[in-house]
Amino acid sequence: MTALPPLREVIATHGLAARKSLGQHFLLDLNLTRRIARTAGDLASGTTVEIGPGPGGLTRGLLLEDAARVVAVEKDPRCRAALSEVAAAAPGRLELLEADALQVDLTALGPGPRRVVANLPYNVGTPLLIAWLARIAEDPTVLESITVMLQQEVAQRLVAVPRTKQYGRLSILTQWLCETRLQFDLPPRAFVPPPKVVSSVVRLIPRAQPLAPAPLPALERVTQAAFGQRRKMLRQSLKSLGDAQALLRETGLPETARAEELTVEDFCALARAL
Ligand code: SAM
Repeated sequence: MTALPPLREVIATHGLAARKSLGQHFLLDLNLTRRIARTAGDLASGTTVEIGPGPGGLTRGLLLEDAARVVAVEKDPRCRAALSEVAAAAPGRLELLEADALQVDLTALGPGPRRVVANLPYNVGTPLLIAWLARIAEDPTVLESITVMLQQEVAQRLVAVPRTKQYGRLSILTQWLCETRLQFDLPPRAFVPPPKVVSSVVRLIPRAQPLAPAPLPALERVTQAAFGQRRKMLRQSLKSLGDAQALLRETGLPETARAEELTVEDFCALARAL
């Protein structure tokens, strides 16, 4: 692994000029990628799924931090040759899958414990997270953890508490299913090319059971209605669901409360009532 050429050279040799449409912002400092890999915990068993390996900086970091088996899902075929060199340097430990991560079934990628570690393409980061959370709602053992780099603004929404402007639908869905930890931030200059915003690594650990019982489709409907009009009182914002006042009576929540004042458990109560 240490005999591989520097990443800047790999990018030049294989013509991997960053494409905006694929959210390509590469990490070239192996100290940094190894730090992300260490944040993901013990990689020595099961399957580590990396989304968007690009030229392979984080992939190298994962392998250097003793990942037993990495499955790297990359949409850009230009990265194939560079990644094959990494695979050759770690025989039997890296499998490459050329695919759109949005179309991939995580369980098909290898035996558990399974974890995702990625510097996510920002344009599909949120849809990917929502898809993984939907899988976790069906089966919390599908992933042991998710450790991902995201725009700081999205990372803050995942961990946000009530009565903050970041608190919203994504906070509730995530915290309902997972424990969340903001790990560290990276400035734009850590990436090539630099993105416009600060990035953050966040770690999600699926709970053995959701924070409170609730059917996912109903939870999605109540959070959508409530946060769709987040400044309005619930007696108004929940009208699109039917008899808002009856719903609120059943849950014992004040009619004058606003979406951002409710806890995850309050939303679960509303979802059950619905
Ligand atoms: N892991 C590399 C690093 O840290 O330097 C690259 C990270 S870059 C932010 C995101 C990567 O995701 C790019 O390599 C891009 O081609 C890839 N990508 C973008 N959309 C994808 C998708 N839908 N499925 C799989 N990979 C995707």
